[in-house]
Amino acid sequence: MGVIVNNMPNYEPSSLLQYLVAAQQIVVFTGAGVSTAAGIPDYRGAEGVWKTRPEITIMDFLDDPEKQRQYWQYKSEDWSTWSQLEPTPVHRALLKLEQMGKLAGILTQNIDSLHRKAGSSEEYLVEMHGRMDEVNCTQCEFRGAADEWYTAFLENGESPRCPECGGWLKPGVVMFGESLNPETMLRAQQAMQAPDLVIALGSTLSVQPAASFPLMAARAGIPYIIVNQGETAHDGLPHVSIRLEGDVQELFAGAVDEAALMFG
Ligand SMILES: [Zn+2]
Repeated sequence: MGVIVNNMPNYEPSSLLQYLVAAQQIVVFTGAGVSTAAGIPDYRGAEGVWKTRPEITIMDFLDDPEKQRQYWQYKSEDWSTWSQLEPTPVHRALLKLEQMGKLAGILTQNIDSLHRKAGSSEEYLVEMHGRMDEVNCTQCEFRGAADEWYTAFLENGESPRCPECGGWLKPGVVMFGESLNPETMLRAQQAMQAPDLVIALGSTLSVQPAASFPLMAARAGIPYIIVNQGETAHDGLPHVSIRLEGDVQELFAGAVDEAALMFG
């Protein structure tokens, strides 16, 4: 039944499932809420890590050896747990959308690499705040897999240096006070060129400039659906087509499963 909607010129979808069935080019914006079910803490939640860990800026990192070590300590500890975690039903649902040929891009605020682990293709994936599973040099273009650097840090407690230029290495994530990578921003803009549906999942939509991307598309008249447990910064805006409150695993992954069944 649902597939017929594509052939109805004046059809106005009214549910997430109907939108999923009708859309051809979906951009999905994901936040911490899609990964909490995997065991990744929500930094902004009530038990947020920020309550117990002081904020370390990129300037602190570059100027203060003690804070630099502290940062490596936090990230190395996090990664020793995170690297063992499995993708959630939402991560898997996004792979399913890709396999259905409906995905135009995943813009994620998450640094946990769970979209990649679920099998989402690099070409669709824009990790706006970087990724924990890589390190990069603060001086040159060097990038590399992070595992060995975190392991070495946990053994010797020394901030690692770049094997190519001797500069400080840092975990491949965007720090406080640091601009988003221009190349990444460009890819996010490109993904936003021509979607026919934008869905924000598990994000409070409060962190800029990342959260401006779904809103830009919505303002251009593209249907915009928000699924989140708890308030978001875009609630009540006239551009929001549907706002679903509740568990993103249940609401979104369930709808994708149903849409997939219709596609056969
Ligand atoms: Zn270097």
